[in-house]
Amino acid sequence: MLVNAVAAGAMRGARFPGRYIQGAGVISVLGKEAGGYGRKATVLLDNGVFDFLKPEVEKSFVGGIEAEIIRHGGECSREAVDALVAAARAFGAEVMVSAGGGKALDTAKAAAFELKLPIIIVPTIAASDAPCSALAVIYKPDGKVDYDLFLPSNPNLVLVDTALIARAPARFLAAGIGDALATYYEAESCRRSGASNCMKMPGVSLAFEVARFCRDTIFEFGAAALSENDARTAGNAFERVVEANILLSGIGFESGGVAAAHAIHHGLCELDDVHHHLHGEKVAIGVLAGLRLHGLDEEFEKVRAFCASVRLPTKLADIGIAEVTEEKLAIVARRACRPGEIIHNEPMPITEDMVIKALRTLI
Ligand SMILES: [Zn+2]
Repeated sequence: MLVNAVAAGAMRGARFPGRYIQGAGVISVLGKEAGGYGRKATVLLDNGVFDFLKPEVEKSFVGGIEAEIIRHGGECSREAVDALVAAARAFGAEVMVSAGGGKALDTAKAAAFELKLPIIIVPTIAASDAPCSALAVIYKPDGKVDYDLFLPSNPNLVLVDTALIARAPARFLAAGIGDALATYYEAESCRRSGASNCMKMPGVSLAFEVARFCRDTIFEFGAAALSENDARTAGNAFERVVEANILLSGIGFESGGVAAAHAIHHGLCELDDVHHHLHGEKVAIGVLAGLRLHGLDEEFEKVRAFCASVRLPTKLADIGIAEVTEEKLAIVARRACRPGEIIHNEPMPITEDMVIKALRTLI
């Protein structure tokens, strides 16, 4: 029986990107869209896509507002944010734009926040649900996480060109499916426990419907979307899964809440073994372990088969933990269960022993 843990009339909330546009070739309207927010745009382009994206971005600004295009160095550090702030200020930017992967987008999000500028986000991979979020992760020069910057609002516009995203390797889309897979299970845990979302209050009912829709979409279209990605085509399945990975998962996790899957991900990241694996690949292992915590064996088998069908890991060895020791499991469990951690958003008490036991079933 599902018990609604939140009293009638209690404060609830949800948050969203200001606008969302998706389609093949929509990069062509970037300049026109930017013109809706200001007269001068600073455009930060990811190092990895700079050469082929720059001409497309320039073309979109022809006849429109003035744009200054900057190459992102690759890191989202305090220094990178400061440099972008200085450049945008010197240029007199009235709107910030960034295209690329997570670190370029986060650098621009953080700089736009400091300058109080509107921000347009153009993800070139669909490997996580970060693009729509009001969060930027700032790293230290040594590559370790410095701090999470929680922003007061989500991006003004998220512009998703599926033709661009289809050019990226399918492994990125698969990782995004892993991140999106966690959204429903974690939101459902928060709904049942009454835990708070990213706004420090329980989600409104829409948040949980979006999370469920996210799961249903990736289950239905995930495998077909990867085949389309292999063929570098943005067909119907690809469009549906990109929307699930970026928009549905983004709204679902911020407004529904997070729990065991991401806590176990954080634990796994304590091991050097996993560093060559993507966020969503590790999160998928977190989802599987989370289902074990709940003793949901039938659902576990269903999700494990799904993960296999969308090229996601199902065993610890698949994310680089070839040699599983008691010490490693203890390190993961300790980090996942530390006081105040999101694993405690689960509707039942979770102990380190429970996490170790769950992870052992993934050897
Ligand atoms: Zn995530």
